Amino acid sequence: MRKPATSASSAAAEPQRRDTSAARAAKFAAETRLGLVRRARRMNRTLAVAFPDAHCELDFTNPLELAVATILSAQCTDVRVNMTTPALFARYRDARAYAEADRTELEEYIRPTGFYRNKTSSLIGLGQALLERHDGVLPGNLDELVELPGIGRKTANVILGNAFDVPGITVDTHFGRLVRRWGWTTEEDPVKVEHIVGELIERKEWTMLSHRVIFHGRRVCHARKPACGACLLAKDCPSFGAGPTDPVAAAALVKGPEAEHLLELVGR
Ligand code: SF4
Repeated sequence: MRKPATSASSAAAEPQRRDTSAARAAKFAAETRLGLVRRARRMNRTLAVAFPDAHCELDFTNPLELAVATILSAQCTDVRVNMTTPALFARYRDARAYAEADRTELEEYIRPTGFYRNKTSSLIGLGQALLERHDGVLPGNLDELVELPGIGRKTANVILGNAFDVPGITVDTHFGRLVRRWGWTTEEDPVKVEHIVGELIERKEWTMLSHRVIFHGRRVCHARKPACGACLLAKDCPSFGAGPTDPVAAAALVKGPEAEHLLELVGR
């Protein structure tokens, strides 16, 4: 069912085509810190209207499964990981199963996700470390998670936010690209980006913000051809014009199951 546009979405959808590009550039160049905080939070609210069902796109039923799926998602699509994990999770049910896995057998299970030899080492190492240090249970804090094989800061934040309800900002390639386009930061380093965005956006919003930004990056604000002319964030985005601004051309670039809903919100 189509979702009705709200006042937030209508405001965000209001095109700014009246602005000249020079006027837009001047507006963002003169932005104060308070203005940036307000704009960032407004953009997050607009994204909440655009993607009310944003969520982790990896399938899992417990923290260990999410950790395994996130390790497998490196250099691989979530769709492919989700095709691989049902059989894997049925065969390897706990940390001990990974710790004692036959390497060749485990490699075959995860081969479709790519880099399967490295990922097999991570999964066996993860199982062993969990048995040795945490009684086989995945810890729910950043410091201990990042000490585990295969789990970096990005993976740890995914696990914390989605399996433990601890707010976390996940800076993947989509997230970094978008927040730089939006002028939230110019930093390239993911940890610096995480901290800077954490100071702009309320802590309780961190996990959902991460999902919304990643959804927007996958469906609208593509790396090469962002759908600017069909983007709800156009009014608040300093990079409006990085992609086609023609509404019809832009609409054709919007992807995913929410496309109809997104285009309806911008009045297409
Ligand atoms: S206006 Fe363009 S660059 Fe800005 S968020 Fe939308 S699609 Fe991305």
